[in-house]
Amino acid sequence: MNNNVSLSQFILEQQRSLKDASGTLSLLLKDIATACKKISHLVNRGELMNVLGSAESENIHGEVQKKLDIITNNIMIDTLNWGGSLAGMASEEDDEIIAIPTQYPKGKYLALFDPLDGSSNIDVNLAVGTIFSILHSHADDEPKTEDFLQKGCDQVCAGFVLYGPSTLMVLTTGNGVNGFTLDQDIGEFILTHPNMRIPENSSEFAINMSNQRFWEAPVQRYINECLQGSEGPRGKNFNMRWIASLVAEVYRILTRGGVFMYPLDLRKPLTEGRLRIMYEANPMAFIIEQAGGSCSTGRERMLDIKPTSIHQRVPVILGSKNEVERIVAYHQESTH
Ligand code: MN
Ligand code: MN
Repeated sequence: MNNNVSLSQFILEQQRSLKDASGTLSLLLKDIATACKKISHLVNRGELMNVLGSAESENIHGEVQKKLDIITNNIMIDTLNWGGSLAGMASEEDDEIIAIPTQYPKGKYLALFDPLDGSSNIDVNLAVGTIFSILHSHADDEPKTEDFLQKGCDQVCAGFVLYGPSTLMVLTTGNGVNGFTLDQDIGEFILTHPNMRIPENSSEFAINMSNQRFWEAPVQRYINECLQGSEGPRGKNFNMRWIASLVAEVYRILTRGGVFMYPLDLRKPLTEGRLRIMYEANPMAFIIEQAGGSCSTGRERMLDIKPTSIHQRVPVILGSKNEVERIVAYHQESTH
């Protein structure tokens, strides 16, 4: 049994321990929690609220939007834009950055989010989530797109909410990773998973095997060695998981280790990778590293990349430290 520390209390106590924290980050995180509670409610009610199915529109990535992609995006924007902590926002679902309406005060942070990750899972009643990333705004007035293009290592805070059998929030402000379970009865996230740590070794991998013929040699080699099991060079059997929902994959890795890959793909236009650096790869990389894991493109540490556009895609390899380092080493060996 936990001692019932709520997310609000946890954030406030963390803030009190920092010298120059102004309190607006705490307010922002409370608003994010509120938005995610609204989304949790909608996802849980599902077809009773008539929110499932396609919206028959496409987003900037050429993906068909679900009704819930649009509804959850509006919930995030409408819940975060008035609080006074933000200078601007960016969303996976919006082509351009999102300005704070002129009637509201502006703050010093930028919020970036994927309002509904894994939305292809929603109609089949599998886990989906919300991913968010907070940056400092260095702009004097209205932030421009360039102001959002910061390296992942400069994130102030990152987190995600997983809408599964329980609704869980995972959060880092650069001081470890903590998990909170939504207590539906009182409407509060409660600290249930303090100081989450990823085991350094693992024998579980998650990758979309149907794309195997499009992978590069280092990824082929790693997966081949896993598949050979106890008869192969790894000398042990591996297990495979594939949920097709980044939040669910990362949560599993945070709880029992493993490696997740959406590697570089030799098909055009996927040669840049599949996942988005600003809304997916960077926040997850920050969380994974803070929990003792690693995240790389195969060629460089995710958090060191200077993004060139807010919708930039990257290859992602993340999870247990020793497994990710092995895959990175295979990439280095194959280019020498
Ligand atoms: Mn997503
Ligand atoms: Mn999404």
